[in-house]
Amino acid sequence: MIYDTIIIGGGAAGLLAGVECKRLGESFLIIERNPRVGKKLVITGKGRCNITTYNTNLDDLISKYQRNGKFLYGAFSRFTVEDTIKYFEEVLNIPLKVERGKRVFPKSNRAVDVIYALQNEIGENILPNTSVLKFNLNGNSISSVSTYKGDFQAKRYILATGGKSFPITGSNGDGYTLAKDIGHTIVKPKPALVPIICEEKWVKDLAGLSLKYVTISAYQEKKKVVSGFGEALFTHEGLSGPIVIDMSREVGDTLEKGNVSLSIDFKPAIPREELDQRLQTDLKSLAKKNLRTFLKGYLPSSLIPVFIELTKISPSTQSCDITKDQRETILNLLKDFRLTVKEIGTWDKAIVTSGGVSIKEIDPKSMKSKIVENLYFAGEIMDVYGPTGGYNLQICWSSAILAARDTHL
Ligand SMILES: Cc1cc2nc3c(=O)[nH]c(=O)nc-3n(C[C@H](O)[C@H](O)[C@H](O)COP(=O)(O)OP(=O)(O)OC[C@H]3O[C@@H](n4cnc5c(N)ncnc54)[C@H](O)[C@@H]3O)c2cc1C
Repeated sequence: MIYDTIIIGGGAAGLLAGVECKRLGESFLIIERNPRVGKKLVITGKGRCNITTYNTNLDDLISKYQRNGKFLYGAFSRFTVEDTIKYFEEVLNIPLKVERGKRVFPKSNRAVDVIYALQNEIGENILPNTSVLKFNLNGNSISSVSTYKGDFQAKRYILATGGKSFPITGSNGDGYTLAKDIGHTIVKPKPALVPIICEEKWVKDLAGLSLKYVTISAYQEKKKVVSGFGEALFTHEGLSGPIVIDMSREVGDTLEKGNVSLSIDFKPAIPREELDQRLQTDLKSLAKKNLRTFLKGYLPSSLIPVFIELTKISPSTQSCDITKDQRETILNLLKDFRLTVKEIGTWDKAIVTSGGVSIKEIDPKSMKSKIVENLYFAGEIMDVYGPTGGYNLQICWSSAILAARDTHL
C-alpha cells in the first residue's frame, strides 16, 4: 500500500499531524518506536499538559522565543494560538482553562486526556514498537522508509521525531541522523531549559526552597549575560525553576567561554539605597533582636542559616551591635547573592533541545523541506525553541497542522 502520508514519531507534533490527516480524508500511518504514543506528552506540565500560552498578540508571542522565533511567523500566523484553543475544544473535545502566567491547561488537569483524545481521532493508523531506520531516496524524493518490519511507502513524509531531550521518552536524536543522511544540515543540538548546577556545597541544605519575585542574573566577570524575574527553586545541586531553566542555554553557551556566576537579588523591587535605609531603620527598631530573628523580615526562614554563615556574623549578634560594614555585607547579600555555575544539566533533565534541523532549509509557510521534494518537519526536531509556559507545544501544534495541510491548500 502507498499511503498519502507517513508520519515518523508519535509525539505531540506527530499525533496532531495524524489527526489533521484524518480530517482531510488522507490515508496515513504514524510510525512510533515506543509501545505507546505520547510518552513525553504525558509528563508535560507535571502531568497536566500546559498546552499553549494565551498570548494572542503575534509579535509579542514571537518575541518570547529564544531561538529562531522569526521563523515561526509563518506557522503561528496560519495556525494561531486562538486556532489551537478552538481545535482542542471543538475538534478534540478537550475543554481548556487559562491559569496564572497565561498558561493554558485542560480543565481536567490531565495530560493523559490529551493523548486519549488525539488517539481517539487517529484510530488504528498507528504502528507502535517500530523505529524508522532510514529514508530511501529516488532522485530528490523519498520513495520509502525502512524499518525492521520492512519498508513503508507514502507520497509524502512528516518527520516528527522530536529532539534529544528526555531520551527516556523515545526522542534520542534519531531524527537528526535520518534528516542528515538525506542532505539536511543539523545545527549542533544542546540541552535547553535545564536546571543549573552550582559549585557551592551548601546549596543541598536549601534543596526544595522556592523563591518568588526574585531577579536572577548571570554574569561573566562583570558583564551581565542574561537576567530573569520570577520564580526559582534550590535543588540538591544548584538552581532550577522557571527563570533559571529559561536562561540555562545562554548560561551554558557563556560557560564555554569562561566562568559564569549567578546573582540573586532577593529584593528586586527595592533600590539598593532604599533597602539600606530600611535596614538601618529596622536594625534600630529591633535593637534587642538577634540577627536570625532580624532577617526573618527579609528572607525565607530556611535560607537564613546559610545566609548568616555567608555574612560571617555570629547569629546571636544583636541588631544594635551590627556594624556599618556588617550592614553593608547583609545589604550586598540581599541584592547580590552569588553562586558559581559548575555546569548546566544534561539531556536527561532538559525540557527541550536547542539546535536541530536548520530552519534555513525549511519553508516557514508549509514546514516543507527545501532539500527533499516530499519531506516535512514538525515539532522539536527543528532548530527552534521557546521558554517554559506552553510555548514549546505551540510549536508542535502549529507546525504539525501546516505540514498536514500543505498539499490541501
Ligand atoms: C518533563 C517535560 C515537561 C514539559 N512540559 C511542557 C509543557 O507543559 N508545555 C510545553 O509547551 N512544553 C513542554 N515540554 C516540551 C514539550 O514536551 C516538547 O517540546 C514536545 O513534546 C515535543 O514534541 P515532538 O512531537 O516534537 O517530539 P516528542 O514528543 O519527543 O515525540 C517524538 C516521538 O518520536 C519517536 N521517535 C523518535 N525517533 C523515532 C524513530 N526513528 N522511529 C519511530 N519513532 C521515533 C519518539 O519515540 C517520540 O515518541 C516538556 C518537556 C518535558 C521533557
